[in-house]
Amino acid sequence: MNASTSMVPQADLGASYRAQKDAIDAAVARVLASGWYILGQEGKAFEDEFAAWLSVGDAPAMQAVGCANGTDAIALILRGLGIGPGCSVVTVSHTAVATVAAIEMVGATPLLVDIDPKTFCMDPAELEAVLSSPPPGLAPIRAAIPVHIYGHACDMDAILRNCQEHGVAVIEDVAQAHGGRLNGRMLGTMGDAAAFSLYPTKNLGALGDAGITATPDAQLAKRMGAIRQYGWHQRYISDEAGVNSRLDEMQAAILRVRLPLLDAGNERRRAVAEAYDTALANGPYAAPHRAAGVEHVFHQYVVRVPEREAVMERLRLQGVATAIHYPVPVHEQAAYRGRIALGPSGCAETSRAATEVMSLPVFPEITDVQVDQVCAALRGL
Ligand SMILES: *Cc1c(COP(=O)(O)O)cnc(C)c1O
Repeated sequence: MNASTSMVPQADLGASYRAQKDAIDAAVARVLASGWYILGQEGKAFEDEFAAWLSVGDAPAMQAVGCANGTDAIALILRGLGIGPGCSVVTVSHTAVATVAAIEMVGATPLLVDIDPKTFCMDPAELEAVLSSPPPGLAPIRAAIPVHIYGHACDMDAILRNCQEHGVAVIEDVAQAHGGRLNGRMLGTMGDAAAFSLYPTKNLGALGDAGITATPDAQLAKRMGAIRQYGWHQRYISDEAGVNSRLDEMQAAILRVRLPLLDAGNERRRAVAEAYDTALANGPYAAPHRAAGVEHVFHQYVVRVPEREAVMERLRLQGVATAIHYPVPVHEQAAYRGRIALGPSGCAETSRAATEVMSLPVFPEITDVQVDQVCAALRGL
């Protein structure tokens, strides 16, 4: 890196606030002046706008219920479906620890299956294997949580077919894929319910913690709306046990500013991805795979690099910051190692991916100059 080039960050949350400053400041001021700070009209409006944004094309009419974060969104869906102690839930080990933490939060037992090494998403064959012959002694499997990792859709046709055959609910983890599509269908509208994190780094992010659930099932939405606030079906009256996981008005108002900008942000991410594809084209490393019918939203642009440490250092010297999502699979973390049931492969592809994945800079506000700087560095690999 010579003196005139500066570092291209891997993500830049401040840039996105600065680009939207006037609208966000006005939204925050509106909430501050309103005198109402939690579960009010901003939250309700955001839920309705988010549900309407999802309910396009062939999608069923969705209902959305806001909550405190993406982990809680998964837990809220599990509670809403009556899944807890005595139930197992299948998901992947190649994900944010949050996905697995949510399963244990409700007292259910996680079962982790391997990924397709090309898409990094749940391998439907592994899912089918554990549904057909569950590990001995495991509690009955009640749900599967496919994770649309990095913004790439899971093979939902196969996953839905497998789960329907075995009477297992499907909960989409869409924390990294807001606005992504599969064969024209919005991610988060294909399963029984979907969980979205609205953490600041996500494609749709608040300026604090937030999350939202979506479902076509009005009864489930109503139940989740009660469970997120002490099980209240009406004020101070709990018909069932709940939790406290509310979306605050400040975050909801900020998210209402950002939701209409999401599709353009995803377009920009895709354009950046195409520039990186071209820069990588004749080099040793393959561009991220896109399965047929997938409209990727590039929450991360991930390249497999066996000699990762050396390549990250070479990129750093040329002013390109990179990150690893994620360096240690969930089943190899100290908190989980040795006590979580795995699919037939023992998550072998997951373990290999964790040693090779490298995420390049991608965020909507990245400048053309920054993209060119990354591309020049990639062409030199
Ligand atoms: C971020 C994330 C979550 C958790 O969201 P939080 O808002 O941090 O609780 C869950 N799953 C995946 C795949 C994520 O990336």
